[in-house]
Amino acid sequence: MRRGDDYVASLRDGRAIFLDGERVKDVTRHPAFVEPIRLIAATYDRARAVILDPDLTFAAPASGARHSTMWLIPRSADDLSARRRVHRFWAEPSYGLMGRTPDHVACVLTAFASWRQLFDRGGRHFGDNVVRFYERARDEDLYVAYAIVPPQIDRTKPAHLHPEPFLHPGVVRETEAGMVVRGAHSIATSVTMADWLFVSYITPLAEGDEDYAISFVLPVGADGLKLYPRRPYATMATSVYDYPLSSRFDELDTTVVFDDVLVPWEQVFIHRRVDLVNAQFHESPSHTTANFQSLVRFGVKLEFLAGLAMKLAEVQVSESDPNTQATLGGDVAAYCAAFDALVKAAERFPLVTNDVARPHPQYIYAGMGLQRRLIVDMMRTLREMAGGAFQNVPSSEASFVGEETRAATERYFQSSAAGARDRIKLIKLIWDFVGTEFAGRQLQYEMFYSASQPVVNRRMFRAYDWAAAKQLVDRCLGEY
Ligand SMILES: Cc1cc2nc3c(=O)[nH]c(=O)nc-3n(C[C@H](O)[C@H](O)[C@H](O)COP(=O)(O)OP(=O)(O)OC[C@H]3O[C@@H](n4cnc5c(N)ncnc54)[C@H](O)[C@@H]3O)c2cc1C
Repeated sequence: MRRGDDYVASLRDGRAIFLDGERVKDVTRHPAFVEPIRLIAATYDRARAVILDPDLTFAAPASGARHSTMWLIPRSADDLSARRRVHRFWAEPSYGLMGRTPDHVACVLTAFASWRQLFDRGGRHFGDNVVRFYERARDEDLYVAYAIVPPQIDRTKPAHLHPEPFLHPGVVRETEAGMVVRGAHSIATSVTMADWLFVSYITPLAEGDEDYAISFVLPVGADGLKLYPRRPYATMATSVYDYPLSSRFDELDTTVVFDDVLVPWEQVFIHRRVDLVNAQFHESPSHTTANFQSLVRFGVKLEFLAGLAMKLAEVQVSESDPNTQATLGGDVAAYCAAFDALVKAAERFPLVTNDVARPHPQYIYAGMGLQRRLIVDMMRTLREMAGGAFQNVPSSEASFVGEETRAATERYFQSSAAGARDRIKLIKLIWDFVGTEFAGRQLQYEMFYSASQPVVNRRMFRAYDWAAAKQLVDRCLGEY
């Protein structure tokens, strides 16, 4: 398993990242990226330290070498349970606030490798490419990000009917060495700190979109791949004390531009097959397996939220108030427990086909459909509990050192349960969770990391056992 230092060194590959019109010289030293990279490196080191732990690693069937269970092809509920543990392992360092840790796209690649028959339909060499890359990623513990949703150019038209060709990524020409790709994808979270990028479409392609019907991987440092992150939050933070989450856990959402990038044939999974691009995520176990990671990660975040709510009640000295207890029980704890049950149900009752266990779609899509509503409600609960507390804090940590402000800061910002420094620390943490720009992005992430609400709801519609439900009604109707 890789060392954190080796991971950091591998990011110095000349990758083309542009912030505010300028190229970032070294992503590992730039203040916008340094903290999340440090966190990933530290987690690789922690993973390496537990390499013999059967709860988090498995032995590859052929070589016997041990690998993280994020690369385990699940055959049973117990295998999914092993995958859940490794997702928690990666989610806990950021309290569930970083969604695209290495274990996310590892799910996609593992599911693809378990379902090579789909890629073989385009030619056996494509299936070989999938399996070979999966094995390499597993053996080298690669961090892969993905870009699978194109920019919103025109919702009424497929890519090939846009005002200009190749606004969305597509093949401009083929050479003996590979295919040349031009265009842009909307968002690849974490790509600035990943090793490789997986590129395809999860949005349905239409007949005529053959130039766009591709699926491939490429190193983030590849020639012609250009990364345009949105505004980073770490560089806006005055201190960790003032912005404990923005300053440390911003995983950076990034628009990716393919400026005539040559993708060698051995990195191509699908070439000019609309049917296969449209089938890859749902016919294979990829979608439910990857979103299982998302739900496990979200569960960690909910637990963190519950902790914040309880600590807030304590600092306000309201934890024994019956109304506060009712809020904490009904509007926080109940949701956390219900969500945990959904994750466990997806794992305990998998759909097993072709000897591969996929987390049950019914529970995965129920979780995904609910989470965007739960998080809005639960953040509102935190706001309701806080009242004006977020505004009843000094402008920054410097207030504790200013000669004229120190004494008043200590005196007037305290609660009877906590001194000013501890109270403000907690309140600023909660504000970074619910109210800052970082928090706003978190909410948008939970709402859209996969798809819009109607898209998720329709998946739920397809996953639910309507036949069983209707049968109950038929029995009832037949009774009279
Ligand atoms: C923080 C964040 C991180 C992300 N990270 C990644 C990542 O790592 N990799 C990746 O590939 N993607 C990522 N995404 C992109 C994500 O997959 C998409 O945002 C998501 O699939 C929704 O697609 P969209 O943005 O095009 O929105 P849309 O699907 O366009 O939805 C936006 C709104 O428009 C409505 N709408 C959609 N179609 C129509 C129509 N035809 N007519 C009228 N209304 C319509 C929807 O119902 C919705 O209300 C990320 C997104 C966010 C917000």
